[in-house]
Amino acid sequence: MQEFSKFPTKTGRRSLSRSISQSSTDSYSSAASYTDSSDDEVSPREKQQTNSKGSSNFCVKNIKQAEFGRREIEIAEQDMSALISLRKRAQGEKPLAGAKIVGCTHITAQTAVLIETLCALGAQCRWSACNIYSTQNEVAAALAEAGVAVFAWKGESEDDFWWCIDRCVNMDGWQANMILDDGGDLTHWVYKKYPNVFKKIRGIVEESVTGVHRLYQLSKAGKLCVPAMNVNDSVTKQKFDNLYCCRESILDGLKRTTDVMFGGKQVVVCGYGEVGKGCCAALKALGAIVNITEIDPICALQACMDGFRVVKLNEVIRQVDVVITCTGNKNVVTREHLDRMKNSCIVCNMGHSNTEIDVTSLRTPELTWERVRSQVDHVIWPDGKRVVLLAEGRLLNLSCSTVPTFVLSITATTQALALIELYNAPEGRYKQDVYLLPKKMDEYVASLHLPSFDAHLTELTDDQAKYLGLNKNGPFKPNYYRY
Ligand code: NAD
Repeated sequence: MQEFSKFPTKTGRRSLSRSISQSSTDSYSSAASYTDSSDDEVSPREKQQTNSKGSSNFCVKNIKQAEFGRREIEIAEQDMSALISLRKRAQGEKPLAGAKIVGCTHITAQTAVLIETLCALGAQCRWSACNIYSTQNEVAAALAEAGVAVFAWKGESEDDFWWCIDRCVNMDGWQANMILDDGGDLTHWVYKKYPNVFKKIRGIVEESVTGVHRLYQLSKAGKLCVPAMNVNDSVTKQKFDNLYCCRESILDGLKRTTDVMFGGKQVVVCGYGEVGKGCCAALKALGAIVNITEIDPICALQACMDGFRVVKLNEVIRQVDVVITCTGNKNVVTREHLDRMKNSCIVCNMGHSNTEIDVTSLRTPELTWERVRSQVDHVIWPDGKRVVLLAEGRLLNLSCSTVPTFVLSITATTQALALIELYNAPEGRYKQDVYLLPKKMDEYVASLHLPSFDAHLTELTDDQAKYLGLNKNGPFKPNYYRY
C-alpha cells in the first residue's frame, strides 16, 4: 500500500493528456467516442438503466446506444482475427471457466473484442475504464447490453473514476480471482481498499509501463502477494507498439495536424531506438532527408548502415524543417535549439513523456502562443518567427492520430494468453513475482496473426530440429535473443 500511495492520482495525470492518462501513455485507445458526451447532462450514476434482458448490473452513459456500439465492435473484429481465432480454438475447452476477471483498461471497440473473447472462454468479467476520457460510450453500452458488468463513460470525474473501479471490485456474492490492469490503478485500489481480495486472486496481468514499474517496485519491497505478468515487455507487443506502430502513426499524426509534404524536407530524428527506427523508415520512404542524433554508438552505427546522417542537433538545427524526439530522455530539445530554428519549423515528440522538448521554456512573456488548430500551437518570436509545436510536446501519435486495430489485436491477444496462463498454471509455477509471458506464448501470439497475411511458416524437419537443438514446436529463440 505504501508503495502505491507514492504514485500520482488520476487528477494529477489528467492534465498531462487530453485523452490518455500518464499511466497508459504506452497503451492506446484507438478512437475517441463518436457519440457526443454532452448529449445528456445527467450523470450515469443518477440514471436507472436496464438492458433488454432486464439487468441493471452496469453503469454506462446511455444503454440505447448499444446497437451502434455493436457495429463498432464488429468492425474491430475484422482486424482482430487472431483473437477471434483464439476464441474459436479455445471455446470448447473453456480455459477460463470459473475465472472472475476484474478489468480496468481503455473501453473501446478493440477492448470489447478482448472482453467478449474472455467471456466466450468461460470467464465472468466486471470492467471499468483506465482513463476518464477514452471510453467509447456506445461500445460500453453494447457490452452492457451483452451482459458484461461495465462501469464506464467518457468524461468521468475523478470521483466517478474510483467509484466505477469500486463497483467492479466490491460486489456482494462475487469475488474476483484475476486482475487485468492497464496503469495499475485497479491493482492499487484493491491493495488499498480490499487487501483480502488477494487471497483469491491467482494473478495480475498488467499492460502499461507505469503499471509494470509499480509491480516491480512492490515485488522489490516484498509486498507483491500474487504472481503478475508483465505483458508490456513481451517481444511481439514491444515490436508492434514501438517499431511498426510508430512507423505508421508518425506520418498520420504529422499530416493530420500540419498537412506537410515530406518529399525533400530536412528532418532530424532524435534517438534511433525502436521508435526512432520506425519514424525514420516512414520518413525516408516519402523522400524526406533524414538526420539522426544518438548518444549510443551502436544505434548511431545502425543509423549509418541504414543510410542516415548522424549529427549533433546543433549542427542541423538551423536548416531542418521538422524535429522529432523519440529518446525517452529529457531536455533533448532546449530553448536554445528552439531559438535557433528556422521559421515554420515543426517540432514534435514521439517519446513517452512531455519532457523531451523543453516546452516550459517557451512560456515566457516575449513569446506569443497562438492555437491554430486542435493540438497545434504557433509559438511566435518577437521578430515574427514561428515554430509549429504539436500536442504541446506530448506524444504526437497518441494525441493526434489513432492506433491501428491490428496493433491492439497483438496486445489483446497477449493479454488473453497471459490470463489463461496465470489462471491455469499449476501451483508453484509462478511465485509472488513479476513474470514475462513465456516465449512460446509470445510466439503463439505472432503465429495467430500470420493467417491474416496468408503467411506460411516453414516447419523444422526432425533432423534440422536436432541439429539446432530445438523443439519443433518452439520456442525458437533463447530468451536473450534480440529480434
Ligand atoms: P529505445 O531505448 O529503443 O530508444 C531510445 C534511443 O534514444 C536510444 O537508442 C538512446 O540511445 C537514444 N537517446 C537517449 N538520449 C538521447 C539523447 N539525448 N539524444 C539522442 N539520442 C538519445 O526506446 P524506444 O522503444 O525507441 O522508445 C523511445 C521512447 O518512445 C520511450 O519513451 C518510449 O516509452 C516511447 N514510446 C512511444 C510510442 C509511441 O507510440 N509514440 C510507442 C512505444 C514507445
